[in-house]
Amino acid sequence: MIACRCAVCTSPDKKDKRLRSSIQVESANTTIVVDTTPDFRYQMLRICATKLDAVLFTHPHKDHIAGLDDVRSFNFFQQKAMQLYGNSMTLDAIMREFAYAFADKKYPGVPELELNEITLEPFTIGDIPVIPVEVWHLKMPVYGFRFGNFTYITDANRIDESEKEKIRGSEILVVNALRKEPHISHYTLNEAIDLVQELEVPEAYFTHISHQLGRHEEIESQLPKGIHLAFDGLQLTV
Ligand SMILES: [Zn+2]
Ligand SMILES: [Zn+2]
Repeated sequence: MIACRCAVCTSPDKKDKRLRSSIQVESANTTIVVDTTPDFRYQMLRICATKLDAVLFTHPHKDHIAGLDDVRSFNFFQQKAMQLYGNSMTLDAIMREFAYAFADKKYPGVPELELNEITLEPFTIGDIPVIPVEVWHLKMPVYGFRFGNFTYITDANRIDESEKEKIRGSEILVVNALRKEPHISHYTLNEAIDLVQELEVPEAYFTHISHQLGRHEEIESQLPKGIHLAFDGLQLTV
């Protein structure tokens, strides 16, 4: 966190250096990113990304959409508009907050964006099947996504029973765990552990971690078998 001098923010451990929460999902022929965070540009530079077919959005909070402008590099090299997927609430916010990209007369070089509205109906991007899972971020519906046996959920603190059914059977679950103390719109560490155990997912990784959770090494050593803290650069094969 900017201006913080706590033990996590001053830690020399690379796993304590966290950019904003986002993942890339890659198959043989399709590459998707979930959310364009304020760190999107650096996240793409850091992995030397050369290809991006689509962006899936979980919800319109700024830490999940702010980096969208930088998809224009992909527009330039791929010579096509970027395909964006989100529910109507999220797409409305994108049109509002990036109004210049949707103007009738666009300034040259603005990002080329194509909006694809999604609901809770499953859909496919290239060869990647996507099942949206609706979760609650206080009172805001947020979309998690299941890709085959892998499920990604960020910014939640409650999931309806019917939506939990969509997660069951996943081999790997990534879910948010903000800190140990209660929070109005994010799972705590214990709530996230309870969710993983309730859904009987064998392998789980916690993301969207606050500096208030504590140092990676210390917290990782306290977690039950099969549950880990995610870290920037983590790669999983499913
Ligand atoms: Zn700190
Ligand atoms: Zn967030």
